[in-house]
Amino acid sequence: MTPERYRRLRDVLDKRQPDLTVLMENVHKPHNLSAILRTADAVGVYEAHAVNPTGGVPTFHDTSGGSEKWVYLRVHPNVDEAVAHLKERGFTVYAANLSERALDYREVDYTLPSAVLLGAEKWGVSPRAAELADADVVIPMMGMVQSLNVSVAAAVILFEAQRQRLASGLYDRPRLDPLTYRRTLFEWAYP
Ligand code: SAM
Repeated sequence: MTPERYRRLRDVLDKRQPDLTVLMENVHKPHNLSAILRTADAVGVYEAHAVNPTGGVPTFHDTSGGSEKWVYLRVHPNVDEAVAHLKERGFTVYAANLSERALDYREVDYTLPSAVLLGAEKWGVSPRAAELADADVVIPMMGMVQSLNVSVAAAVILFEAQRQRLASGLYDRPRLDPLTYRRTLFEWAYP
């Protein structure tokens, strides 16, 4: 471990946001899951969540850029358990969902603990997940095609969250509790 590498790990950990996350509901294509994790890494998500239809460990694609090493992924057996887990930790769950009740994604305050729920490639957010979410958010669409690719939708919303968090200084000081910070630094430095 060179001093430069150690400093780099610390710089990244200093910006991790334990209160910003994504929940991927049955996002089953490895390249989409991987692209979302890569964006999650870029905005400082510490731990991402997935409900995996096969129940197994999700597989990654080289579109991840290796981000699965830096963003923890917690897999839940179903959406009820996933949302309960997030709500117990104080997250507001925003379903990225093209519904009538959806707010424009820019109207939400992502400086508060926020989880962005993304739906399956073909079917979108399930009715049960939409029922459990606190609110729906939508990225306005003005073209012929009804929806974005799920990883693109994740990026648009997560970078709005990053913009808001930068403006309110949430990247200016470490946000992880000291024990988690030290443990993660050790795991990253000596995998
Ligand atoms: N037919 C599906 C539907 O009606 O939801 C389309 C699914 S879309 C390809 C996959 C996921 O990407 C959606 O469940 C949603 O989470 C996200 N998504 C795509 N476009 C979106 C948009 N314009 N606003 C919000 N979320 C979007």
